Amino acid sequence: LPAKLPHTGTTIFTVMSALAAEHGAVNLGQGFPDFSPDPALLQAVTDAMAFGYNQYAPMTGLPVLRQAVAARLNGLYGSAYDADRDITITAGGTQGLLTALHACVGAGDEVVIIEPAYDSYDPAIRLAGAVPVGVPMTVDYRIDWAAVRAAITPRTRALVLNTPHNPSGRVATGDDLRELERLAEQHDLFVISDEVYEHMVYDGQLHESVARHAGLRERSFLVGSFGKTFHVTGWKVGFVAAPSALSAAFRRLHQYTVFSVHTPTQQALATYLADPAPWQGLSGFYQARRDAFRAALAQTPLTLLPCEGTYFQTVDYSAVSDLPELDFARWLTTEAGVAAIPLSVFYQRPQERRHVRFCFAKREDTLAEAARRLASAWR
Ligand code: PMP
Ligand code: GLN
Repeated sequence: LPAKLPHTGTTIFTVMSALAAEHGAVNLGQGFPDFSPDPALLQAVTDAMAFGYNQYAPMTGLPVLRQAVAARLNGLYGSAYDADRDITITAGGTQGLLTALHACVGAGDEVVIIEPAYDSYDPAIRLAGAVPVGVPMTVDYRIDWAAVRAAITPRTRALVLNTPHNPSGRVATGDDLRELERLAEQHDLFVISDEVYEHMVYDGQLHESVARHAGLRERSFLVGSFGKTFHVTGWKVGFVAAPSALSAAFRRLHQYTVFSVHTPTQQALATYLADPAPWQGLSGFYQARRDAFRAALAQTPLTLLPCEGTYFQTVDYSAVSDLPELDFARWLTTEAGVAAIPLSVFYQRPQERRHVRFCFAKREDTLAEAARRLASAWR
């Protein structure tokens, strides 16, 4: 077989979920809710199928859903995305990221990724024939703009931003976005902005979308996912918003990779998005879970890192173990009975840290059981 991605193993999410299942561990590794979505949303899918939404959607997505996405983005971020030209419905954020990267980079180009970097960026860039250039964040998981500047070469074509940030839970600030705007203008870069956690931002902080910044909006592919926002990660429906010239390039590839996305869920999401309450309430919903989980973890020897957004809580375990992160995550799963994700897998080069990530998008009893196991693990 032709050797595509010869050095790429199985994604950590598959590895840790399988290990958790094998050992009966509470799975706080892979990020997905273990509770049901809103019954009204489920009913809307059933209704859509009953009403005949069962054939191919238009290649770019159902118009009602594109209109709902454009209206929400424009209302929230002051942008002016056109529902017909600038919004494309995708098979989740993952396909949005892959296709956006392929639309704007090619052989020999370099793409800056901020590490720890979500694990699909690196292979997506390599598949496009381009070179991922990892730039580690600062020790407290802020974007290190001096290091980003230093990593830019004449071959740098794009940068991948992710805010709120998986796995650190950090949220980019207005200054971060302005810095990126200057840099992108100066070096004529495309920006792939992974904003799948846009509605999970805590303590009154603002989500700084690229759509809020005119100089970024015009050169960015904004990637979103309904899976995160509506507790339906298995539906794999998302969107990409980009100015029409960028969207046209995106759609040239999209039409021959997926053509179009599952129709009844698109129709249901369009109906459901008309009510802002579910996504407006999401930050409050998860902030309460974050607080309860942090309070429970405070009873363990693990040190909590800040969590400003996303449904991930990162901890430092150096007080209890000197194992490398992957070994510790395996030990935690098989011996303590709680699965976690090691941060080391999100870097190109080995790191000296002792950090793992827990997902708190779980029922209260699930989180309580995980905390109970963690509290007794080092007794
Ligand atoms: N980007 C980030 C940062 C994510 O955490 C995820 C989901 N884990 C995705 C993209 C992919 O989203 P989807 O599940 O909609 O493909
Ligand atoms: N995005 C999820 C996470 O970070 C996992 C998605 C996947 O399993 N590919 O945990």
